[in-house]
Amino acid sequence: MAKIGLEIHGQLTKLESKLFCPCKADYRQFEPNTNICPICMGIPGALPLLNRIAVEKATLIAMALDCKTPNKIAFFRKNYFYPDLPKNFQITQLNVYGNTSIGWEGKISVADKVIRIRRIQLEEDPGRLIYEGANEKTKVTLVDYNRAGTPLVEIVTEPDFETPHEVREFLNILSDLLENLNVSDPGLEGAMRADANVSIEGGSKVEIKNIGSFHDLEKAVHFEITRQQSLAERKIEIVQETRHWDDGRKITVSARTKEEEAEYRYHLEADIPWIRINDDTKNQLQAHMPESISSKKERYVSKYGITSQVADILASDRYFSELFENAKNETNAKDVANMITTDIMGLLDTREKRETSKLSPEHLSDLVECIKSNKITRASAKLALDEIIKNGKSLEQIINDLDLGHVSDKEELSDIITQVLNEEAKAVEDAKLNPEIVNFLVGKVMQKTRGKADPELTLSLLKKSLDFD
Ligand SMILES: [Zn+2]
Repeated sequence: MAKIGLEIHGQLTKLESKLFCPCKADYRQFEPNTNICPICMGIPGALPLLNRIAVEKATLIAMALDCKTPNKIAFFRKNYFYPDLPKNFQITQLNVYGNTSIGWEGKISVADKVIRIRRIQLEEDPGRLIYEGANEKTKVTLVDYNRAGTPLVEIVTEPDFETPHEVREFLNILSDLLENLNVSDPGLEGAMRADANVSIEGGSKVEIKNIGSFHDLEKAVHFEITRQQSLAERKIEIVQETRHWDDGRKITVSARTKEEEAEYRYHLEADIPWIRINDDTKNQLQAHMPESISSKKERYVSKYGITSQVADILASDRYFSELFENAKNETNAKDVANMITTDIMGLLDTREKRETSKLSPEHLSDLVECIKSNKITRASAKLALDEIIKNGKSLEQIINDLDLGHVSDKEELSDIITQVLNEEAKAVEDAKLNPEIVNFLVGKVMQKTRGKADPELTLSLLKKSLDFD
C-alpha cells in the first residue's frame, strides 16, 4: 500500500499587496520586472513591513481546516541561493520555538476519510524563472521578479493518502474551500502548486517537486507509485531522493542535487517582530468566516428542497452560489438552482466567459419567473440566456427583439400543426401504429415555432388531430 503526503503552495491572490511591501499581489497584470520595490528586490537595508490582512486571511484558512492557531507567530529566514530569490533567503515560518506558524494539527474530510493537516505556514513566493531557447546549449533563463514577495500559504499534510484518486479529491475540496473563503482564486495560472512525497511498504520516501498543476499532481503520484512498485517487484532498492516532474514526458526524473532541510540554515527573521494574535482577533475572524461549503449545501437541501446533487455542485462553486443567493427568493429557489446547474454552468464554463458575462441575478429571477408564468418556453429561455450573457439587455427587451413570446394561442398553433401534419404524412401514418412518434411531431412543431410553442398545448392538440384521445 502507498503512503502519500502533500505540500500545497497556495497564493493568497485576493490580497491587495505583497506580504512585506506595498507592491501588488496581483502580479500577473504587469510587464516583467515592473511590480517591484527595494523590499521585494531584497536591496540591502530595505525593511519588510508585514501585511496584516495576509496574516488574518492565512489564519482564516487555518481555522477553516480545523487547525490549532498560535497566540504568537514568528518568521524565519530560509537561506538558499537561487536566481529567483533576490535576497538569497526566503521569509517563511518554522516551528522550532514552539508552534509559531499560522496553524497546526488540522484536518479535512475527503469522502469517508480524514486527512490530517500537519501545519500551515505563511511565506513569500519567489520570482519566476522563464526558460527560453531551443536546446541545452542555446538555452536562456530570464527572471521576472514581479511575483517575488507574493503571499503564499504552505499547507503540509500527514502522509494519509493511499491512492492518487484520494489526492485528486482532496485537491478539489481544498481549492473549493480556498475559493469559498475568498482568499484565493485557484484557477489562476500558478496560484496553486504542490510537492508530494510518496513511499510504498518497505521502501524509502521519495519527494516529487515542480508539479505545476493539480491535474499533473495526480498523474505524478500515479507514475511514482507504479515506478516504485516495479522496482520492488524486481528487488531493486528504492532510494530516498528528490525527483522532478517532467511535464513534457509525464514522468518523474531524479534531481541531480540533494535538497535537505538542514542545508537551509534557518534562523529567526530579526527584522520582523513576533506578532501577537489575541483571542479577540481570533473571535472576530471566526465570526466573519464565510459559511462553509457543507453548511451551504445542507441549507440548500433543507430550506429550499434542492436535490443533494444540485446543492453539492452549487455550494462548491463560489461564483455560482453567489449568483444563486442573489437571484433566489422564497418561491423560486429550486428553479433558479436548476437553471444554474443545467443551463448556465455550461455557458459560463471558463474564467473568461464569467468575466465578460452580462448576466445579473435579476435576469436570472426574471427568466425563471417568465417560464413559470408561461410567458416563454424553456427552449426560448435558452436563446434569451445566450443573448443576456452577450449584451446584458433586459429580458423583456430580448423577448421583444427576438420575438420569443410564447405561442399559446390555440388557433395559431392549430394552423402550424396542420402544416406539420401535411408535411410529415409518413410520420402521421407511423404514429398510428406507434404513439411514440408523436414526440417527433411535437419536435417539428417546436422547430417551426423556433421553440416558442407551449409543449403541453402542442401535445394535446396533436393528439386530438391524430384522433388519439
Ligand atoms: Zn515590493
